[in-house]
Amino acid sequence: MHLTLTNCPNCNGPLRELILHSGLHYSRVECAECERFIRWGRSPSSVAKQQILEHKINWLAARTSLNEWEASFIASIGQQIDNRKNLSPKQTEWVERLYQKYA
Ligand SMILES: [Zn+2]
Repeated sequence: MHLTLTNCPNCNGPLRELILHSGLHYSRVECAECERFIRWGRSPSSVAKQQILEHKINWLAARTSLNEWEASFIASIGQQIDNRKNLSPKQTEWVERLYQKYA
């Protein structure tokens, strides 16, 4: 399960998200009280893309027709997602490929 902070771990103040108009990141989440940096935010479209990908991974994980390699691949990237690590482009490509194969 993903842990979502709703208050500052430093002062317990409320968090706020500032939309950035330049640079690498879509937004910056920080404490509204002490301005402590919490995390970078992602754009709604990249969040939506990620959700679709996770849905496909969950769907594939529920298949019993995967071969041994496919099953262990899906299990390992499922774990990667749980640890909030982004998939590489190659891994994403494999998810799409397997989804096309079984959907
Ligand atoms: Zn704070």
